[in-house]
Amino acid sequence: MHATETVIIGAGQAGLALSRHLTSAGRDHVVVDRGRLAERWRSERWDSLRLLTPNWMTRLPGWSYDGPDPDGFMTAAEVVAFFEAYAASFGAPVLEGVTVESVEPAGGGFRVSTDAVTWRTANVVVATGAADVPRVPGLAGHLPAHVHQITPSRYRNPAGLPDGGVLVVGASSSGLQIADELARAGRRAVLAVGDHNRMPRRYRGRDVMWWLDRTGVFDTRIEDVPHPERSRRSPSMQLVGRPDHGDLDLGTVHRQGVELAGRLVDVDGGVVRFADDLAATTARAEARLCRVLDGIDACIAGAGLDARVAPPDRPAPSTSPPRRGTCTCAVPASARSSGPPDTGRPTRGCACPGSTTARASPRPGAPSRASTGCSCWASASRPAAAPTSSTASATTPAWSPTGSRAGPRREPPPDQGRPR
Ligand SMILES: Cc1cc2nc3c(=O)[nH]c(=O)nc-3n(C[C@H](O)[C@H](O)[C@H](O)COP(=O)(O)OP(=O)(O)OC[C@H]3O[C@@H](n4cnc5c(N)ncnc54)[C@H](O)[C@@H]3O)c2cc1C
Repeated sequence: MHATETVIIGAGQAGLALSRHLTSAGRDHVVVDRGRLAERWRSERWDSLRLLTPNWMTRLPGWSYDGPDPDGFMTAAEVVAFFEAYAASFGAPVLEGVTVESVEPAGGGFRVSTDAVTWRTANVVVATGAADVPRVPGLAGHLPAHVHQITPSRYRNPAGLPDGGVLVVGASSSGLQIADELARAGRRAVLAVGDHNRMPRRYRGRDVMWWLDRTGVFDTRIEDVPHPERSRRSPSMQLVGRPDHGDLDLGTVHRQGVELAGRLVDVDGGVVRFADDLAATTARAEARLCRVLDGIDACIAGAGLDARVAPPDRPAPSTSPPRRGTCTCAVPASARSSGPPDTGRPTRGCACPGSTTARASPRPGAPSRASTGCSCWASASRPAAAPTSSTASATTPAWSPTGSRAGPRREPPPDQGRPR
Protein backbone atom coordinates (compact mmCIF):
# COMPACT_ATOMS: atom_id res chain seq x y z
CA MET A 1 0.00 0.00 0.00
CA HIS A 2 1.24 3.49 -0.96
CA ALA A 3 0.90 6.53 1.27
CA THR A 4 0.32 10.18 0.39
CA GLU A 5 -1.32 13.13 2.09
CA THR A 6 -3.98 13.77 -0.60
CA VAL A 7 -5.42 11.74 -3.45
CA ILE A 8 -7.16 13.78 -6.14
CA ILE A 9 -9.47 11.67 -8.30
CA GLY A 10 -9.75 13.15 -11.79
CA ALA A 11 -7.21 15.00 -13.93
CA GLY A 12 -9.59 17.51 -15.46
CA GLN A 13 -9.36 21.23 -14.82
CA ALA A 14 -10.59 20.97 -11.22
CA GLY A 15 -8.12 18.26 -10.24
CA LEU A 16 -5.23 20.03 -11.95
CA ALA A 17 -6.07 23.39 -10.38
CA LEU A 18 -6.04 21.87 -6.92
CA SER A 19 -2.83 20.04 -7.71
CA ARG A 20 -1.27 23.40 -8.62
CA HIS A 21 -2.21 24.84 -5.23
CA LEU A 22 -0.95 21.78 -3.33
CA THR A 23 2.29 21.84 -5.31
CA SER A 24 2.79 25.53 -4.47
CA ALA A 25 2.22 24.73 -0.81
CA GLY A 26 4.70 21.82 -0.95
CA ARG A 27 2.04 19.26 -0.01
CA ASP A 28 2.44 15.64 -1.00
CA HIS A 29 -0.33 14.42 -3.30
CA VAL A 30 -1.21 12.43 -6.40
CA VAL A 31 -3.75 12.97 -9.20
CA VAL A 32 -5.23 9.80 -10.65
CA ASP A 33 -7.36 9.53 -13.78
CA ARG A 34 -8.99 6.48 -15.27
CA GLY A 35 -8.18 7.85 -18.71
CA ARG A 36 -5.62 10.41 -19.77
CA LEU A 37 -5.19 13.95 -18.51
CA ALA A 38 -8.21 15.98 -19.70
CA GLU A 39 -9.79 12.75 -20.90
CA ARG A 40 -13.23 14.20 -21.49
CA TRP A 41 -11.83 16.72 -23.97
CA ARG A 42 -10.17 13.87 -25.84
CA SER A 43 -12.94 11.31 -26.05
CA GLU A 44 -16.28 12.90 -25.14
CA ARG A 45 -16.54 15.85 -27.53
CA TRP A 46 -17.74 16.01 -31.13
CA ASP A 47 -15.25 16.84 -33.89
CA SER A 48 -16.34 20.41 -34.62
CA LEU A 49 -16.73 21.51 -30.99
CA ARG A 50 -15.02 24.66 -29.84
CA LEU A 51 -15.25 26.16 -26.39
CA LEU A 52 -18.13 28.58 -26.11
CA THR A 53 -16.09 30.60 -23.65
CA PRO A 54 -13.55 32.94 -25.31
CA ASN A 55 -9.84 32.26 -24.90
CA TRP A 56 -9.24 35.15 -22.49
CA MET A 57 -11.66 33.43 -20.12
CA THR A 58 -9.65 30.21 -20.07
CA ARG A 59 -7.64 30.71 -16.92
CA LEU A 60 -6.51 28.51 -14.08
CA PRO A 61 -4.55 29.20 -10.91
CA GLY A 62 -1.20 30.51 -12.11
CA TRP A 63 -1.97 29.91 -15.78
CA SER A 64 -4.01 31.61 -18.47
CA TYR A 65 -4.30 31.83 -22.24
CA ASP A 66 -1.55 33.99 -23.71
CA GLY A 67 -1.89 33.18 -27.41
CA PRO A 68 -2.53 35.52 -30.31
CA ASP A 69 -6.33 35.29 -30.33
CA PRO A 70 -7.78 36.15 -26.91
CA ASP A 71 -11.27 36.58 -28.39
CA GLY A 72 -11.20 33.25 -30.25
CA PHE A 73 -12.53 29.88 -29.15
CA MET A 74 -10.34 26.80 -28.60
CA THR A 75 -10.97 23.47 -30.28
CA ALA A 76 -11.09 20.42 -28.03
CA ALA A 77 -7.55 19.50 -29.13
CA GLU A 78 -6.35 22.97 -28.14
CA VAL A 79 -8.01 22.58 -24.75
CA VAL A 80 -6.11 19.32 -24.22
CA ALA A 81 -2.84 21.01 -25.20
CA PHE A 82 -3.63 23.88 -22.82
CA PHE A 83 -4.15 21.47 -19.90
CA GLU A 84 -1.07 19.44 -20.81
CA ALA A 85 1.07 22.56 -20.78
CA TYR A 86 -0.47 23.59 -17.46
CA ALA A 87 0.27 20.23 -15.84
CA ALA A 88 3.83 20.28 -17.19
CA SER A 89 4.39 23.82 -15.87
CA PHE A 90 4.41 22.63 -12.28
CA GLY A 91 5.11 18.92 -12.74
CA ALA A 92 1.67 17.75 -11.71
CA PRO A 93 1.94 14.21 -10.27
CA VAL A 94 -0.68 12.72 -12.61
CA LEU A 95 -1.15 8.97 -12.90
CA GLU A 96 -3.07 8.09 -16.04
CA GLY A 97 -5.04 4.93 -16.70
CA VAL A 98 -5.80 4.33 -13.05
CA THR A 99 -9.44 3.88 -12.06
CA VAL A 100 -10.48 4.52 -8.49
CA GLU A 101 -12.82 1.73 -7.48
CA SER A 102 -13.56 2.56 -3.84
CA VAL A 103 -12.81 5.03 -1.04
CA GLU A 104 -13.24 3.81 2.52
CA PRO A 105 -12.50 5.30 5.95
CA ALA A 106 -9.37 3.74 7.40
CA GLY A 107 -7.21 4.65 10.40
CA GLY A 108 -8.48 8.23 10.72
CA GLY A 109 -7.99 8.79 6.98
CA PHE A 110 -8.99 6.90 3.86
CA ARG A 111 -8.05 3.85 1.87
CA VAL A 112 -8.31 4.52 -1.86
CA SER A 113 -8.48 1.35 -3.91
CA THR A 114 -7.80 1.44 -7.63
CA ASP A 115 -7.38 -1.14 -10.36
CA ALA A 116 -3.62 -0.71 -9.97
CA VAL A 117 -2.52 0.22 -6.45
CA THR A 118 -4.01 1.15 -3.08
CA TRP A 119 -3.29 4.35 -1.21
CA ARG A 120 -3.54 5.29 2.42
CA THR A 121 -4.23 9.01 2.61
CA ALA A 122 -5.49 11.75 4.92
CA ASN A 123 -7.53 13.57 2.23
CA VAL A 124 -9.50 12.59 -0.84
CA VAL A 125 -10.71 15.11 -3.42
CA VAL A 126 -13.34 13.83 -5.82
CA ALA A 127 -12.83 15.85 -9.01
CA THR A 128 -14.57 13.50 -11.39
CA GLY A 129 -16.80 16.11 -13.04
CA ALA A 130 -19.83 17.95 -11.81
CA ALA A 131 -22.40 17.02 -14.43
CA ASP A 132 -21.06 14.08 -16.28
CA VAL A 133 -24.03 11.75 -16.58
CA PRO A 134 -26.21 12.11 -19.68
CA ARG A 135 -29.79 12.85 -18.88
CA VAL A 136 -31.66 10.44 -21.09
CA PRO A 137 -35.35 10.39 -20.27
CA GLY A 138 -37.13 7.14 -19.57
CA LEU A 139 -39.06 7.72 -22.79
CA ALA A 140 -35.96 6.64 -24.69
CA GLY A 141 -36.55 3.09 -23.56
CA HIS A 142 -39.86 3.05 -25.44
CA LEU A 143 -38.32 3.72 -28.84
CA PRO A 144 -38.17 0.67 -31.10
CA ALA A 145 -34.89 -1.21 -30.98
CA HIS A 146 -34.15 -0.35 -34.61
CA VAL A 147 -33.90 3.38 -33.78
CA HIS A 148 -30.28 4.28 -33.23
CA GLN A 149 -29.90 6.39 -30.08
CA ILE A 150 -26.86 8.37 -29.01
CA THR A 151 -25.86 11.08 -26.54
CA PRO A 152 -23.57 14.03 -27.39
CA SER A 153 -20.58 12.51 -25.62
CA ARG A 154 -20.67 9.72 -28.23
CA TYR A 155 -21.66 11.88 -31.19
CA ARG A 156 -18.74 12.83 -33.47
CA ASN A 157 -20.10 14.12 -36.81
CA PRO A 158 -23.10 13.70 -39.16
CA ALA A 159 -21.38 10.96 -41.15
CA GLY A 160 -21.11 8.87 -38.00
CA LEU A 161 -24.89 8.53 -37.73
CA PRO A 162 -26.92 6.03 -39.75
CA ASP A 163 -28.60 7.42 -42.86
CA GLY A 164 -31.87 9.24 -42.47
CA GLY A 165 -33.40 11.97 -40.39
CA VAL A 166 -32.34 12.76 -36.86
CA LEU A 167 -34.46 13.81 -33.92
CA VAL A 168 -32.37 15.95 -31.59
CA VAL A 169 -33.89 16.32 -28.14
CA GLY A 170 -32.79 19.38 -26.22
CA ALA A 171 -32.16 22.90 -27.50
CA SER A 172 -29.34 24.27 -25.39
CA SER A 173 -25.85 24.69 -26.78
CA SER A 174 -25.14 21.00 -27.49
CA GLY A 175 -28.51 20.22 -29.09
CA LEU A 176 -28.50 23.38 -31.18
CA GLN A 177 -24.94 22.89 -32.37
CA ILE A 178 -25.59 19.28 -33.36
CA ALA A 179 -28.91 20.03 -35.10
CA ASP A 180 -27.27 22.93 -36.94
CA GLU A 181 -24.38 20.73 -38.07
CA LEU A 182 -26.72 17.98 -39.24
CA ALA A 183 -28.81 20.42 -41.28
CA ARG A 184 -25.70 21.96 -42.84
CA ALA A 185 -24.63 18.44 -43.83
CA GLY A 186 -27.93 17.97 -45.65
CA ARG A 187 -29.53 15.74 -43.05
CA ARG A 188 -33.11 16.19 -42.01
CA ALA A 189 -33.06 17.37 -38.39
CA VAL A 190 -36.02 17.82 -36.07
CA LEU A 191 -35.24 19.63 -32.84
CA ALA A 192 -37.37 19.05 -29.74
CA VAL A 193 -37.26 22.30 -27.79
CA GLY A 194 -37.88 22.60 -24.07
CA ASP A 195 -36.91 25.42 -21.72
CA HIS A 196 -33.84 27.18 -23.00
CA ASN A 197 -31.75 30.29 -22.48
CA ARG A 198 -31.20 32.38 -25.58
CA MET A 199 -28.11 34.57 -25.61
CA PRO A 200 -26.48 36.68 -28.33
CA ARG A 201 -22.79 35.99 -28.92
CA ARG A 202 -22.01 39.70 -28.81
CA TYR A 203 -23.75 42.68 -27.25
CA ARG A 204 -22.83 46.34 -27.31
CA GLY A 205 -19.52 45.68 -29.00
CA ARG A 206 -18.29 42.93 -26.65
CA ASP A 207 -18.63 39.17 -26.31
CA VAL A 208 -21.56 38.51 -24.01
CA MET A 209 -19.25 36.52 -21.70
CA TRP A 210 -17.26 39.70 -21.15
CA TRP A 211 -20.39 41.48 -19.97
CA LEU A 212 -21.55 38.59 -17.78
CA ASP A 213 -18.09 38.48 -16.24
CA ARG A 214 -17.78 42.24 -15.72
CA THR A 215 -21.29 42.71 -14.39
CA GLY A 216 -20.74 40.06 -11.73
CA VAL A 217 -23.24 37.49 -12.98
CA PHE A 218 -20.62 34.75 -12.73
CA ASP A 219 -19.79 35.81 -9.19
CA THR A 220 -23.27 34.95 -7.98
CA ARG A 221 -23.08 32.30 -5.27
CA ILE A 222 -25.65 29.56 -4.95
CA GLU A 223 -26.44 30.85 -1.44
CA ASP A 224 -27.42 34.19 -2.95
CA VAL A 225 -30.08 33.01 -5.38
CA PRO A 226 -33.70 32.77 -4.26
CA HIS A 227 -34.33 29.36 -5.83
CA PRO A 228 -31.11 27.29 -5.76
CA GLU A 229 -32.65 24.16 -7.24
CA ARG A 230 -34.20 26.10 -10.08
CA SER A 231 -30.86 27.79 -10.73
CA ARG A 232 -29.06 24.46 -10.79
CA ARG A 233 -31.51 23.14 -13.35
CA SER A 234 -31.25 26.23 -15.54
CA PRO A 235 -30.26 25.20 -19.08
CA SER A 236 -26.93 26.32 -20.48
CA MET A 237 -26.94 29.36 -22.73
CA GLN A 238 -27.52 28.91 -26.44
CA LEU A 239 -24.04 29.80 -27.64
CA VAL A 240 -21.44 28.53 -30.05
CA GLY A 241 -17.77 29.47 -30.29
CA ARG A 242 -17.32 29.94 -34.01
CA PRO A 243 -14.54 31.97 -35.65
CA ASP A 244 -17.21 34.29 -37.09
CA HIS A 245 -18.54 35.01 -33.56
CA GLY A 246 -22.04 34.33 -34.89
CA ASP A 247 -25.20 33.67 -32.92
CA LEU A 248 -26.79 30.27 -32.42
CA ASP A 249 -30.46 30.19 -31.52
CA LEU A 250 -33.75 28.78 -32.72
CA GLY A 251 -33.88 31.34 -35.51
CA THR A 252 -30.41 30.57 -36.87
CA VAL A 253 -30.92 26.80 -36.88
CA HIS A 254 -34.37 27.16 -38.40
CA ARG A 255 -32.85 29.15 -41.23
CA GLN A 256 -30.43 26.24 -41.79
CA GLY A 257 -33.44 23.97 -42.25
CA VAL A 258 -33.85 22.50 -38.78
CA GLU A 259 -37.50 21.75 -38.01
CA LEU A 260 -38.53 22.98 -34.59
CA ALA A 261 -40.89 21.14 -32.29
CA GLY A 262 -42.09 21.41 -28.73
CA ARG A 263 -41.10 19.31 -25.80
CA LEU A 264 -40.92 15.53 -26.31
CA VAL A 265 -43.73 14.14 -24.22
CA ASP A 266 -44.45 10.63 -25.36
CA VAL A 267 -43.03 7.69 -27.23
CA ASP A 268 -45.50 5.04 -28.20
CA GLY A 269 -44.06 2.28 -30.32
CA GLY A 270 -42.80 3.92 -33.46
CA VAL A 271 -44.41 7.29 -32.79
CA VAL A 272 -43.01 10.16 -30.76
CA ARG A 273 -45.27 12.97 -29.66
CA PHE A 274 -44.41 16.60 -29.00
CA ALA A 275 -46.15 19.13 -26.80
CA ASP A 276 -47.62 22.24 -28.30
CA ASP A 277 -45.49 24.46 -26.09
CA LEU A 278 -42.92 25.99 -28.41
CA ALA A 279 -44.53 29.42 -28.22
CA ALA A 280 -44.52 29.35 -24.42
CA THR A 281 -40.92 28.19 -24.00
CA THR A 282 -39.77 30.69 -26.61
CA ALA A 283 -41.58 33.51 -24.81
CA ARG A 284 -40.01 32.55 -21.48
CA ALA A 285 -36.56 32.49 -23.07
CA GLU A 286 -37.14 35.95 -24.54
CA ALA A 287 -38.18 37.29 -21.15
CA ARG A 288 -35.05 35.88 -19.52
CA LEU A 289 -32.88 37.27 -22.30
CA CYS A 290 -34.40 40.71 -21.78
CA ARG A 291 -33.63 40.56 -18.07
CA VAL A 292 -30.00 39.64 -18.75
CA LEU A 293 -29.53 42.44 -21.26
CA ASP A 294 -31.38 44.89 -19.01
CA GLY A 295 -28.95 43.99 -16.25
CA ILE A 296 -25.99 44.68 -18.53
CA ASP A 297 -27.50 47.98 -19.66
CA ALA A 298 -28.14 48.97 -16.05
CA CYS A 299 -24.54 48.26 -15.09
CA ILE A 300 -23.26 50.29 -18.01
CA ALA A 301 -25.54 53.19 -17.16
CA GLY A 302 -24.69 52.95 -13.46
CA ALA A 303 -21.00 53.20 -14.23
CA GLY A 304 -21.61 56.16 -16.53
CA LEU A 305 -20.19 54.29 -19.50
CA ASP A 306 -23.07 54.66 -21.95
CA ALA A 307 -21.15 57.01 -24.18
CA ARG A 308 -18.03 54.83 -24.19
CA VAL A 309 -19.56 51.56 -25.37
CA ALA A 310 -21.62 50.62 -28.40
CA PRO A 311 -25.34 51.34 -28.21
CA PRO A 312 -27.78 48.56 -27.28
CA ASP A 313 -28.11 46.17 -30.23
CA ARG A 314 -30.60 43.62 -29.01
CA PRO A 315 -31.32 40.62 -31.22
CA ALA A 316 -34.72 40.51 -32.84
CA PRO A 317 -37.13 38.68 -30.56
CA SER A 318 -37.93 35.09 -31.43
CA THR A 319 -41.54 34.16 -31.80
CA SER A 320 -43.14 30.83 -32.55
CA PRO A 321 -45.94 30.22 -34.99
CA PRO A 322 -49.57 30.01 -33.93
CA ARG A 323 -50.65 26.84 -32.20
CA ARG A 324 -50.49 23.98 -34.66
CA GLY A 325 -51.37 21.13 -32.37
CA THR A 326 -49.41 18.17 -31.23
CA CYS A 327 -47.05 16.61 -33.71
CA THR A 328 -46.01 13.03 -33.87
CA CYS A 329 -43.05 11.38 -35.46
CA ALA A 330 -43.40 7.91 -36.91
CA VAL A 331 -40.31 5.74 -36.90
CA PRO A 332 -40.11 3.57 -40.02
CA ALA A 333 -39.76 -0.14 -39.49
CA SER A 334 -37.03 -0.10 -42.11
CA ALA A 335 -34.69 2.04 -40.02
CA ARG A 336 -31.40 0.42 -39.24
CA SER A 337 -31.29 -1.39 -35.96
CA SER A 338 -28.78 0.01 -33.52
CA GLY A 339 -29.89 -1.25 -30.15
CA PRO A 340 -30.28 0.70 -26.94
CA PRO A 341 -29.08 4.27 -26.33
CA ASP A 342 -25.36 4.64 -26.80
CA THR A 343 -24.79 6.59 -23.66
CA GLY A 344 -21.32 5.37 -22.87
CA ARG A 345 -20.43 7.33 -19.81
CA PRO A 346 -22.34 10.32 -18.52
CA THR A 347 -23.61 12.88 -21.06
CA ARG A 348 -26.64 14.49 -22.56
CA GLY A 349 -28.73 14.27 -25.69
CA CYS A 350 -31.07 12.17 -27.95
CA ALA A 351 -30.86 11.00 -31.56
CA CYS A 352 -33.03 8.85 -33.73
CA PRO A 353 -31.87 7.45 -37.14
CA GLY A 354 -34.31 7.01 -39.86
CA SER A 355 -35.61 9.37 -42.34
CA THR A 356 -38.07 11.08 -44.35
CA THR A 357 -41.35 12.82 -44.39
CA ALA A 358 -42.90 15.30 -42.06
CA ARG A 359 -46.06 17.26 -42.50
CA ALA A 360 -47.70 19.84 -40.33
CA SER A 361 -50.97 19.20 -38.60
CA PRO A 362 -53.85 19.51 -40.99
CA ARG A 363 -55.74 21.43 -38.32
CA PRO A 364 -54.97 22.78 -34.85
CA GLY A 365 -54.86 19.99 -32.36
CA ALA A 366 -54.62 17.22 -34.90
CA PRO A 367 -51.41 15.23 -34.86
CA SER A 368 -49.02 15.25 -37.76
CA ARG A 369 -46.51 12.55 -38.49
CA ALA A 370 -42.90 12.46 -39.49
CA SER A 371 -40.66 9.49 -39.93
CA THR A 372 -37.17 9.45 -38.56
CA GLY A 373 -34.49 6.91 -37.89
CA CYS A 374 -32.11 8.35 -35.35
CA SER A 375 -32.45 10.24 -32.10
CA CYS A 376 -29.86 12.29 -30.26
CA TRP A 377 -30.50 12.97 -26.58
CA ALA A 378 -29.08 16.42 -25.96
CA SER A 379 -31.29 17.33 -23.06
CA ALA A 380 -28.91 17.97 -20.18
CA SER A 381 -26.26 16.30 -18.16
CA ARG A 382 -26.43 15.80 -14.46
CA PRO A 383 -24.15 15.04 -11.55
CA ALA A 384 -23.40 11.37 -11.24
CA ALA A 385 -25.34 11.00 -8.03
CA ALA A 386 -28.30 13.18 -8.91
CA PRO A 387 -31.66 11.80 -9.98
CA THR A 388 -32.60 12.09 -13.63
CA SER A 389 -35.49 14.21 -14.73
CA SER A 390 -37.59 14.37 -17.81
CA THR A 391 -36.66 15.59 -21.28
CA ALA A 392 -38.43 17.55 -23.93
CA SER A 393 -39.45 16.74 -27.40
CA ALA A 394 -41.81 17.92 -29.98
CA THR A 395 -41.81 19.42 -33.38
CA THR A 396 -43.76 22.14 -35.00
CA PRO A 397 -42.57 23.33 -38.37
CA ALA A 398 -42.83 26.86 -39.67
CA TRP A 399 -41.29 28.85 -36.89
CA SER A 400 -39.79 32.25 -37.55
CA PRO A 401 -38.23 35.18 -35.76
CA THR A 402 -39.72 38.62 -36.16
CA GLY A 403 -37.89 41.85 -36.66
CA SER A 404 -39.05 44.15 -33.91
CA ARG A 405 -36.86 45.15 -30.99
CA ALA A 406 -37.38 44.15 -27.42
CA GLY A 407 -38.56 46.84 -25.05
CA PRO A 408 -36.51 47.61 -21.95
CA ARG A 409 -37.44 46.08 -18.61
CA ARG A 410 -36.31 46.88 -15.13
CA GLU A 411 -35.65 43.53 -13.54
CA PRO A 412 -32.52 42.03 -12.03
CA PRO A 413 -30.46 39.61 -14.14
CA PRO A 414 -31.82 36.06 -14.02
CA ASP A 415 -29.98 33.12 -12.60
CA GLN A 416 -27.57 32.39 -15.39
CA GLY A 417 -24.97 30.44 -13.57
CA ARG A 418 -21.55 29.87 -15.03
CA PRO A 419 -20.95 28.58 -18.51
CA ARG A 420 -21.12 24.85 -18.47
C1 LIG B 1 -20.05 19.68 -24.83
C2 LIG B 1 -19.43 20.48 -23.71
C3 LIG B 1 -18.92 21.73 -23.96
C4 LIG B 1 -18.37 22.49 -22.94
N1 LIG B 1 -17.87 23.74 -23.21
C5 LIG B 1 -17.33 24.47 -22.22
C6 LIG B 1 -16.79 25.77 -22.49
O1 LIG B 1 -16.85 26.28 -23.60
N2 LIG B 1 -16.22 26.46 -21.47
C7 LIG B 1 -16.17 25.94 -20.20
O2 LIG B 1 -15.65 26.60 -19.30
N3 LIG B 1 -16.69 24.72 -19.92
C8 LIG B 1 -17.26 23.98 -20.90
N4 LIG B 1 -17.77 22.74 -20.62
C9 LIG B 1 -17.77 22.28 -19.22
C10 LIG B 1 -16.43 21.67 -18.86
O3 LIG B 1 -16.16 20.60 -19.72
C11 LIG B 1 -16.50 21.19 -17.43
O4 LIG B 1 -16.93 22.21 -16.61
C12 LIG B 1 -15.15 20.71 -16.97
O5 LIG B 1 -14.67 19.71 -17.79
C13 LIG B 1 -15.25 20.23 -15.56
O6 LIG B 1 -13.94 19.92 -15.15
P1 LIG B 1 -13.68 18.89 -13.99
O7 LIG B 1 -12.23 18.86 -13.74
O8 LIG B 1 -14.59 19.17 -12.84
O9 LIG B 1 -14.18 17.47 -14.56
P2 LIG B 1 -13.76 16.66 -15.90
O10 LIG B 1 -13.11 17.50 -16.92
O11 LIG B 1 -15.02 15.94 -16.27
O12 LIG B 1 -12.68 15.63 -15.38
C14 LIG B 1 -13.02 14.56 -14.54
C15 LIG B 1 -11.97 13.48 -14.74
O13 LIG B 1 -12.24 12.46 -13.77
C16 LIG B 1 -11.90 11.20 -14.34
N5 LIG B 1 -12.57 10.15 -13.58
C17 LIG B 1 -13.90 9.97 -13.45
N6 LIG B 1 -14.14 8.91 -12.66
C18 LIG B 1 -12.93 8.42 -12.28
C19 LIG B 1 -12.52 7.33 -11.46
N7 LIG B 1 -13.39 6.52 -10.86
N8 LIG B 1 -11.19 7.12 -11.29
C20 LIG B 1 -10.29 7.94 -11.87
N9 LIG B 1 -10.64 8.99 -12.66
C21 LIG B 1 -11.94 9.22 -12.86
C22 LIG B 1 -12.36 11.35 -15.78
O14 LIG B 1 -11.67 10.46 -16.65
C23 LIG B 1 -12.04 12.82 -16.11
O15 LIG B 1 -10.80 12.98 -16.76
C24 LIG B 1 -18.32 21.96 -21.62
C25 LIG B 1 -18.83 20.69 -21.37
C26 LIG B 1 -19.37 19.94 -22.40
C27 LIG B 1 -19.92 18.56 -22.10
